[in-house]
Amino acid sequence: MKTYYNNNGNPYTLETLISFDAIQTESDKVARTINEKYEKIHIIGLLKGSFVFMTDLIRKITIPLTLDFMAVSSYEGTESTGEVKILKELNEPIGGKDIIILEDIVDTGLTLVKTVELLKTRSPKSIMIVSLLDKPSRRTQDSSADVACFEIPDEFVVGYGIDYEQRHRELKDICKVVFPSQG
Ligand code: 5GP
Repeated sequence: MKTYYNNNGNPYTLETLISFDAIQTESDKVARTINEKYEKIHIIGLLKGSFVFMTDLIRKITIPLTLDFMAVSSYEGTESTGEVKILKELNEPIGGKDIIILEDIVDTGLTLVKTVELLKTRSPKSIMIVSLLDKPSRRTQDSSADVACFEIPDEFVVGYGIDYEQRHRELKDICKVVFPSQG
């Protein structure tokens, strides 16, 4: 198994948690739900972690769609700072539109709560929240995605667009980061 080193020089390895094929099966289901529920849709991907999920998902959607990106951040390294910063605003207005927010992981739920709060002030017709991963054991906010493809335990994960210190986004599978002391 390959050993990687983080920015502090500590070694870690990666273990597959969810395969690319399993992700495809779940994103097929999400696309079917969207295709059946809406006539057209405006998808907002929360950068950077949702970009691979978005590219896979939109190619399975058969209704007319438009998309936009927003970047918010509540994380430094592996610990939540408890604050959400808007790093990149939307380019398109969302008033009167059915929108889908695509999130990579709902962890404490803070990012989701703050993002939805903000987007609601812009009067979209409806909001559906789709998250690739859900860590329910870490939730501090009374909030969850309308659709979550996979529930995962309290592990730090990478791959399929998701990073650790900006690395590993290119991995096809979702893997957990394992430090030797964790066994
Ligand atoms: P929340 O605001 O729900 O606590 O955090 C959500 C955000 O934290 C996610 O969009 C993601 O960017 C980041 N996050 C949460 N868990 C993980 C993880 O296991 N790996 C990575 N790379 N980011 C995570």
